[in-house]
Amino acid sequence: MTNDILASHGYSTTDQQKLQETYRYLHANPELSMQETNTSKFLLGRLEELGLDAFLCGGTGVVGVLRNGPGPVVGFRADTDGLPIGENTGLEYASTAEGTLEDGTRVPVMHGCGHDTHMAVALAAAELLARSTGSWSGTVVFIFQPGEETAAGARAMLADGLWEKAPQPEVVYGQHVWPGVAGGLEISSGTAMAMADSWKVTVLGRQAHGSQPEKSIDPIVLGAHMIVRIQTILSREVPPRESAVVTVGTFHGGLKENIIPASAEFTLNVRTFEPAVRDQVLTALRRIITAEAAASGAPEPVIEEISSFPRCYNDPAATAEVTEQLRSALGEDNVRDVPPVMGSEDFGLLADAIGVPSVYWMFGSTLSERLNSETPVPGNHHPEFAPAPEPTLETGLTAALAAIRTRVGGAGA
Ligand code: ZN
Ligand code: ZN
Repeated sequence: MTNDILASHGYSTTDQQKLQETYRYLHANPELSMQETNTSKFLLGRLEELGLDAFLCGGTGVVGVLRNGPGPVVGFRADTDGLPIGENTGLEYASTAEGTLEDGTRVPVMHGCGHDTHMAVALAAAELLARSTGSWSGTVVFIFQPGEETAAGARAMLADGLWEKAPQPEVVYGQHVWPGVAGGLEISSGTAMAMADSWKVTVLGRQAHGSQPEKSIDPIVLGAHMIVRIQTILSREVPPRESAVVTVGTFHGGLKENIIPASAEFTLNVRTFEPAVRDQVLTALRRIITAEAAASGAPEPVIEEISSFPRCYNDPAATAEVTEQLRSALGEDNVRDVPPVMGSEDFGLLADAIGVPSVYWMFGSTLSERLNSETPVPGNHHPEFAPAPEPTLETGLTAALAAIRTRVGGAGA
């Protein structure tokens, strides 16, 4: 694949091979969230080779600052973590890596969300921009963010002083690979992705023999009431024109059919688009869980936050500006406006922390003949998720360059 913007940055067959090799290396060597130690060493080494001012931030996060004279500062973010998934793609560069979860469990690790494509593309963009300094002016801050999957990484980088250590950008861009058509790209104006809140709820009761319920406070009956009533938040409390999802994904309690256990536990996940709806749902959840316990004469349940993903909001003006550049780089029909998705990201925190706009889009990774076949295409977080390296990586690279150059020097210049 070639196009004007790649050509104008001197993109050659050697660059193409290097991009593919970098991707294969990263794909074969994934690491779990907030444990991206070798990945960060690799990224740091490559950024230093290119002459960027590069440093670690937030543990395993990496920042590369490319300074090229006066002008705007632009941020570009790529996330770096893999997932606890046993890869089943059969690819020659498939991962056989293993990692250890926080609870000590050994698990296989895979770049099952495609963050390897994000890193490979961002490194190539840095290289091409570092080589084409005559045609643009300003500063680009490349943010290689760890721990996206756990919503810990953006917070860790900010807590470590990201925007004190790196120049503050006037806009932050980011992108994600997904199994849409390769060569194409999808973008939403305004809200792009949902907020996501996950909780663990421990329902406390009183243990007794299964034949003596009068001596018990049954946490299983109580937990079941909580879980059923929680669904009425959506059907009876949230206005029908608003969107929200509440999913209870696990429910565990007890060891034997004739013992009423002392406690039970469930985990839930909430997705919302509007901050006011999020507040409403979370407040109602807490109220229902606590009140159901009170209604059973049970101790107050313990509610713990597992993770909290912020909103991913695409500033309409910045989105319109970037969309125009993306269309001119990739072709009018290859960039589609789409409604927001219920997926979540911690990307939004990076720009929100300093009150600047951000724009985030998805680039496709499935060849059109494969998309049109009968068998469904495995998506992100699936053990068979396998982006077609060509032209996916070059689409991501083209989009990165076009977006960055929207502010620091005319795209395709
Ligand atoms: Zn993911
Ligand atoms: Zn992802």
